[in-house]
Amino acid sequence: MHQRKVLIVEDNELNLKLFYDLLSMKKLEVISCKDGHKALGLVEEEMPDLILMDIQLNGISGIDLIKTIKQNKDTQKIPIIAITAFAMKQDEARIMGAGSDMYLSKPVSIDKFFDAVNCYINLNEKETV
Ligand code: MN
Repeated sequence: MHQRKVLIVEDNELNLKLFYDLLSMKKLEVISCKDGHKALGLVEEEMPDLILMDIQLNGISGIDLIKTIKQNKDTQKIPIIAITAFAMKQDEARIMGAGSDMYLSKPVSIDKFFDAVNCYINLNEKETV
C-alpha cells in the first residue's frame, strides 16, 4: 500500500508549519510548496492524494491554480481543500466555482482541519504491517 501523500501550497511560514506538523502526526507523506508558481509542476510530478491550497499566494491566486489543476485531465481527480482568510460569501462561491472540493477559512481549528482531511484520506485506517 502506498503511503498517502498530501501537498500543501501555502506561503505563510507559520500556517505551513502547523499544517505540516498536523499531517505528519498522521503518518502521511507531506510535501510543501511556498511558491504558487511552482505548485502546478509539483502537482504533476508528485500526484498527491490531496492538495491543501492557500488562496492568497505571492503573485498568483490559488483560485487560478485550482482552475488549472481541475482543467487538467491528469490532475482533475485530486481533491483540493482551499484554505483562505477570506470570510466573505462571494469568495467562497468563486473558490468552489473554480472546482475546489472544500473550503476552510482561517483560523482553522485542529478538529475542523482533520475532519476536512478525513473526507478525502481516511485517517483512521489501520497501518498495514
Ligand atoms: Mn497566503
